[in-house]
Amino acid sequence: MLVNCSKCGKSYGIGERRWKCDCGGYLRLAQTGIFTKAALSTRRPDLWRYREALGVSPAADPVTLGEGFTPLVRSSVGGRELWLKLDYLCPTGSYKDRGSTIMMTQLRSWGVPQIIEDSSGNAGASVAAYAALAGIQCEIYVPASTSAGKIAQILAYGANLVKVPGSREDTADAAWEAAQHTFYASHNWNPWFVAGMKTVAYEIAEQLEWNPPDWVVVPVGGGSLLVGVCAGFQDLLRAGLINRMPRILGVQATACPPVFRAWQAGAPDVKAVDKSPTAAEGISVARPVRGPDVLEAVRQSGGAVTTVDDEEIWSTLEALGAVGVYVEPTSAAAPAAAVRQNGSDLIASTDRVVVVLTGSGLKATDKIVERLFPADASRERGQLATK
Ligand SMILES: *Cc1c(COP(=O)(O)O)cnc(C)c1O
Ligand SMILES: [Zn+2]
Repeated sequence: MLVNCSKCGKSYGIGERRWKCDCGGYLRLAQTGIFTKAALSTRRPDLWRYREALGVSPAADPVTLGEGFTPLVRSSVGGRELWLKLDYLCPTGSYKDRGSTIMMTQLRSWGVPQIIEDSSGNAGASVAAYAALAGIQCEIYVPASTSAGKIAQILAYGANLVKVPGSREDTADAAWEAAQHTFYASHNWNPWFVAGMKTVAYEIAEQLEWNPPDWVVVPVGGGSLLVGVCAGFQDLLRAGLINRMPRILGVQATACPPVFRAWQAGAPDVKAVDKSPTAAEGISVARPVRGPDVLEAVRQSGGAVTTVDDEEIWSTLEALGAVGVYVEPTSAAAPAAAVRQNGSDLIASTDRVVVVLTGSGLKATDKIVERLFPADASRERGQLATK
């Protein structure tokens, strides 16, 4: 098996410990194997049931917490019927565990002793958990503004935490600097992390009895989820396990829309944007690493990229609560777009729509309280003050 450079095309064997090409380009996993339906019937309900398609050596011992195979439930949100993929139920509270389990399995098989990762929070928490499990020393860089819940979680897994003042991009720059003398286990750069995201597509297909939906709606920050979901459906199509591609709708925040702008312009790559603050911290990525792959994946699926503003994000977060689903603001962006686009040129009212819900509301308690329940927050503060 090989990884190939996205920029110069150079190939490397997967026995070689590296996270980018010598030329500086990001790497893609070459085509992997695929499982059979018959094999699946005897396997456990976690994402390692798709092992042949994950790009790790058959001899590698998985670093796993039983992640994957999250529920896919039919619900009604804001008057629209949606299939909700409850990926916030992964072991660390976000879908990032799908990437971390594969990436960390590969890193442990290489014998990597120590890693650096940077994140708006969820990837950091996920990588910290799987590094702890793998016995790999781990340092996580986060923006100083990251939700308190995510920071506590990273510390609980025993990682070294580095809070970087400034933007998400300042954090990435600081981690990049530091990674020059250790191993950069970045979810944005690592090709095995992206391979893990293919399992979202496999599960949706399997859970819908190999009859894919019309649309799969996902939030887009760095784009690993979108690229992986599209690649997963393409694997299934190529193997004849499904007979058509769903269209992929990528959703960004109006406050930080670099992929949306490139999509609208028909550009081949994504240019960095100046962003403003948004509650959707998980997709507040001004310069995604895999821009060309994200745009190509959307195009190949016949999909589109759209945006939602913070008002829609908050009102959808409340609508989800009303059907028993508690997600962080970032994760409300995708269902907000599905509801808004219902009956538009994109999503017909009869289309079957799956929405991936990426992160738990418990991650962002501080921000949810502040925005939706400020009276409760001040009452609590008042009580503390009178004690
Ligand atoms: C990381 C993250 C995203 C964005 O995923 P990308 O793969 O970077 O596009 C969306 N939602 C949540 C909750 C996240 O943590
Ligand atoms: Zn290269």
